[in-house]
Amino acid sequence: MASEKEAALAAAPSDSPTIFDKIINKEIPATVVYEDDKVLAFRDIAPQAPTHILIIPKKRDGLTGLSKAEERHTEILGHLLYTAKLVAKQEGLEDGFRIVINDGPQGCQSVYHIHVHLIGGRQMNWPPG
Ligand code: AMP
Repeated sequence: MASEKEAALAAAPSDSPTIFDKIINKEIPATVVYEDDKVLAFRDIAPQAPTHILIIPKKRDGLTGLSKAEERHTEILGHLLYTAKLVAKQEGLEDGFRIVINDGPQGCQSVYHIHVHLIGGRQMNWPPG
């Protein structure tokens, strides 16, 4: 399996449907841990920590990545972060957690449907790789 960096460098930024559309449409399985009318949260298939959850908008609306954000997206961006807080509590991450939004090839983004990584359950390090 390609490394995360190789996958990111191979993934050209694009508006095409992604694997996350298939998850939203229940065409492929995912372990969903939270859902409302605007967002979906599910476990990452290649977890980087004991807890690794992705939080995505159900409607991408041009948000392939954070760098494509426009003013109309402020509500959904806030909702994604607030959902991360709710899910962190649900997962029992009382001692802390990390939020990551990878953007573009240099940011190691491999799926062009904006997503918030919620990572926790172990001590994080800084600086990130
Ligand atoms: P990024 O590299 O920031 O674009 O993150 C994409 C993430 O999606 C990676 O952490 C992958 O492990 C994860 N991923 C890819 N396909 C799936 C899938 N079918 N179910 C859950 N997570 C996935």
